[in-house]
Amino acid sequence: MSIKGVVFDFGFTLFYFKDVSLEKYLACYNKGLEESIKFLRNIRILNDKSREMEFKSIFIDRRNQRFKESRITNLEFTTLGIFEHVLDKLDLSSKIIDNLIDFKDLTKKLADIYHSYEEREWIPFPKTIYTLDQLSKINDLKIALLSNHPHHNMIVNILKKHHVYHLFDVVLTSAKFGKRKPDPSIFLHIIKKMGLTGQEQNCFMCGDEHADIVGGHAIGLKTILCERAYKFPSEKEIKISDYFNISEISEILDLIHE
Ligand SMILES: [Mg+2]
Repeated sequence: MSIKGVVFDFGFTLFYFKDVSLEKYLACYNKGLEESIKFLRNIRILNDKSREMEFKSIFIDRRNQRFKESRITNLEFTTLGIFEHVLDKLDLSSKIIDNLIDFKDLTKKLADIYHSYEEREWIPFPKTIYTLDQLSKINDLKIALLSNHPHHNMIVNILKKHHVYHLFDVVLTSAKFGKRKPDPSIFLHIIKKMGLTGQEQNCFMCGDEHADIVGGHAIGLKTILCERAYKFPSEKEIKISDYFNISEISEILDLIHE
């Protein structure tokens, strides 16, 4: 098998969340939101409790609504966009300008703070770095990362923190592209960015769930399911059968060399 490219999913394929649970995710987001509000208080954009409560409630409503919508439409709604919405809704733009703050810089800062607790939790699996390192030594093999995440910066920060960012030829998130896996367009786009259009049958998509396997399969990629111990509630069943199964990321090295 002459493999020309490997596309990895991020969460629970290369990196994992210690003691994962929905409650733990939610706790990270809640702490992140509190911290974002505190930041706005410190720079005097929010200066009374009732406005802070209003900010929080509009943010949570918008986040929940966008979350549901994204799962139906495959559209991604960025965290930056949610903060923009809340700032607009509370008519804070003029206050931001009066304080000589750039609106785009501010939403980026807020999104970074919001995801900072989550960012700290993601750690690589024991063999992730070794596997990426080995793959990067193979001539003419393109390596890419494709993640469904609403904040591109967080993914890049984590890859840099663990010194693996430079090992990827392409890093793409749904936040950057606007659509989420399993939408075929995001897979076609990453293959194009890797310069491998037309060679889909010589590329692997490696991920831990339905969106990775079914989406990759739809555009003709060979797919590898990296099985994870923790099952999320209401996970979609994979109804195709021609994919590889691995239980540990370094097993991809054997598949490449087959
Ligand atoms: Mg995943």
